[in-house]
Amino acid sequence: MTTPCIITVAITGSVPTKADNPAVPITVEEQVESTQESFEAGATLAHCHVRNDDGTTTSDPERFGRLVEGLRKHCPGMIIQLSTGGRSGNGRERGGMLPLRPDMASLSTGSCNFPTRVYENTPELINWLTAEMKTYGIKPEIEVFDLSMLFKAVEMSENNEIEGPLHVQFVMGVKNAMPVDRPTFDFYVETVKRIAPDATWTGAGIARHQITLNEWSLERGGHCRTGLEDNMKLDRGVLAPSNAALVQRVVDLCPKYDRHPASVAEARSLLGLPAAA
Ligand code: ZN
Repeated sequence: MTTPCIITVAITGSVPTKADNPAVPITVEEQVESTQESFEAGATLAHCHVRNDDGTTTSDPERFGRLVEGLRKHCPGMIIQLSTGGRSGNGRERGGMLPLRPDMASLSTGSCNFPTRVYENTPELINWLTAEMKTYGIKPEIEVFDLSMLFKAVEMSENNEIEGPLHVQFVMGVKNAMPVDRPTFDFYVETVKRIAPDATWTGAGIARHQITLNEWSLERGGHCRTGLEDNMKLDRGVLAPSNAALVQRVVDLCPKYDRHPASVAEARSLLGLPAAA
């Protein structure tokens, strides 16, 4: 018996453009189509940002609503996670779509530097986003850009501000934040096992490091994130033709580590989410 790996596909993000890779889905229709292909390839969790048709970032709840509706229709049971990340709006705008009640939403529990700016998450904003997620029955995915963010999430879980068990994501390779470093990764894994033993976790690597974090996560029993939000290329110089192609790359790696892509039922059970309707 192999153990399941939840494959997250981060389809769009807020930075990549069609000039970076024509396969980046921008319109809601493109996003639904790209997610469906990824779902059919083996992804069971979609991490979503929305854009205006001209590619600029937005956090428009109406647009998120159309995306959620399309995904529920075309990817039955897939876990929908909406981003509350800081490139999509300011302050509470970032959580304006939470009343849509997606299965999950991303939540950063601290601040750090990004390539050209501060990724600011004030304690007040973190508390507000967390309370909104609790109100609407949304499971947060804790975005861990450095170790303090993991400790903060565990504290919030112990205070019942976040309903457990936690799901955390270790993000490595964002310029000016935590680089891709194996001893640090191993320390993250040991620390989450020590301070939140029932937590699940995913590793996310940026650009050419995407595949590195996929392999490390499969090896250490974690889950995997892939997709065009984080990485444009399949291999050195070769643009990924689709999000599904990046998902397929993880699917193909699974047997090497005695893993298999989680089914919808397995993914929902592992994350403590209700079974698909
Ligand atoms: Zn994102």
